[in-house]
Amino acid sequence: MAQEDVFKKIVSHCKEYGFVFPSSDIYDGLAAVYDYGQNGVELKNNIKQYWWQSMVLLHDNIVGLDSAIFMHPTVWKASGHVDAFNDPLIDNRDSKKRYRADVLIEDQIAKYDEKINKEVAKAAKRFGDAFDEAQFRATNARVLEHQAKRDALHERYSRAMNAMDLAELKQIILDEEIVCPISGTRNWTDVRQFNLMFKTEVGSTADGASTIYLRPETAQGIFVNYLNVQKTGRMKLPFGIAQIGKAFRNEIVARQFIFRMREFEQMEMQFFVKPGTEMDWFRYWKETRMKWHQALGFGAENYRFHDHEKLAHYANAACDIEFRMPFGFKEVEGIHSRTDFDLRQHEKFSGRSIKYFDPETNESYTPYDIETSIGVDRMFLSVLCHAYTEEQLEGGETRVVLRLPAALAPVKLAVMPLTKKDGLPEQARAIYDDLKFHFNCQYDEKDSIGKRYRRQDAVGTPYCITVDHDTATDGCVTLRDRDTMQQERVPVESLRQRLEEAVSLTSLLKKLA
Ligand code: ATP
Repeated sequence: MAQEDVFKKIVSHCKEYGFVFPSSDIYDGLAAVYDYGQNGVELKNNIKQYWWQSMVLLHDNIVGLDSAIFMHPTVWKASGHVDAFNDPLIDNRDSKKRYRADVLIEDQIAKYDEKINKEVAKAAKRFGDAFDEAQFRATNARVLEHQAKRDALHERYSRAMNAMDLAELKQIILDEEIVCPISGTRNWTDVRQFNLMFKTEVGSTADGASTIYLRPETAQGIFVNYLNVQKTGRMKLPFGIAQIGKAFRNEIVARQFIFRMREFEQMEMQFFVKPGTEMDWFRYWKETRMKWHQALGFGAENYRFHDHEKLAHYANAACDIEFRMPFGFKEVEGIHSRTDFDLRQHEKFSGRSIKYFDPETNESYTPYDIETSIGVDRMFLSVLCHAYTEEQLEGGETRVVLRLPAALAPVKLAVMPLTKKDGLPEQARAIYDDLKFHFNCQYDEKDSIGKRYRRQDAVGTPYCITVDHDTATDGCVTLRDRDTMQQERVPVESLRQRLEEAVSLTSLLKKLA
């Protein structure tokens, strides 16, 4: 199946099974805004828990914070967002559609990569075991031609972005003959800058009202609380502050479902270090964060680092962790070495001294900062994309199963009576009432057992148990595994211990040790 079709199926699966709904659905939705349904909110909370506990529980020098969405407007002046949080936009006059000029060019670069990969795949098939990929890439004429064009474009694009040369960005789009995917034409406007922050007003609308912004990142809430937390928590460098919260960006192009939203959630951790040690910590956090992703068992080949060439105004090193989505490798998390930029800016704009007194060296200095910043929604999407599987079963039947890591699954266990009579529902309820204190269980007695299994597969429930006519006498139930579909008889009293081990977040966190 084409990857595009797979993605469409995932989007409709999300709606059909209560994971993600378009916002204000009965009014036909609101672009790039989504609501999480009964299963989505559980999965999302589990992702957040996995992140939070890996940060705050497993590191004795990282503490949490929950700062407000509204902040003093000067914060965004100091951070540079008022002046520089812009995307270059371009319109197609025929379709009236708006695009990010940088994204159009990056897609074009990806097209060259695709062409090269296709040549390599074709040759690999032709030569079989004897294929030497490195040699092929270094010598094949067609590959070299695509590579040269790609590199030239990349170089020109990087230069234009670094200089924010809007005329040059437009010229690249024209020279590369990039067309609007809707109208198919090259009738482009000039490229313009567009600030992504949402504005609103606090106070009455009369004279006293002032303009404030919906925060475009949670990070600034951490920086302005640096002193509060450091002093009240008596934190010593290096230490980190972690926060999960909503962020808002007026994205020009809202595409790919919950990949790019206008209201989304971030999990950010700022790690303050002694100046001069930041590159060691940057490497540490790159590795630590990659380990966190890979502990989910989705396969190392589905992740890669992407080092930034164009650095943001505040960074001296930056790297993304990308995940293979059905629409290509995409950024899920950013790790940035932000230097002392933010604390210094707030010091300058607030007039307050934001320094760390180092008891070991008896000096005061502004700490450097390493940021790890991951979007909850993008993480959610990557988990779903990897989990969604269509399987051909024996007998020609198919099933859709979400192979979610058990610790993230919305429901851990479905408890089912085989039939709705002979006291089976009462026995099943009793088991449910006992286990519900330990993990998220669901009681289900409607429809045939086969249908009930399919329903649970579709939401990723790792285990189902069935109470049958023997349960009352042998004290056992049938335990069914989502992935293998194997069934075994298990004593009711062993269920809790057996499942807790398999579905708990603790087991997942232990993989990080
Ligand atoms: P992009 O280049 O995709 O716009 P970014 O580099 O601007 O992303 P950051 O500012 O580094 O993103 O934000 C950190 C993380 O927040 C991203 O890695 C992503 O997971 C998430 N994120 C950013 N913008 C959005 C959005 N509009 N919708 C959903 N998640 C987002």
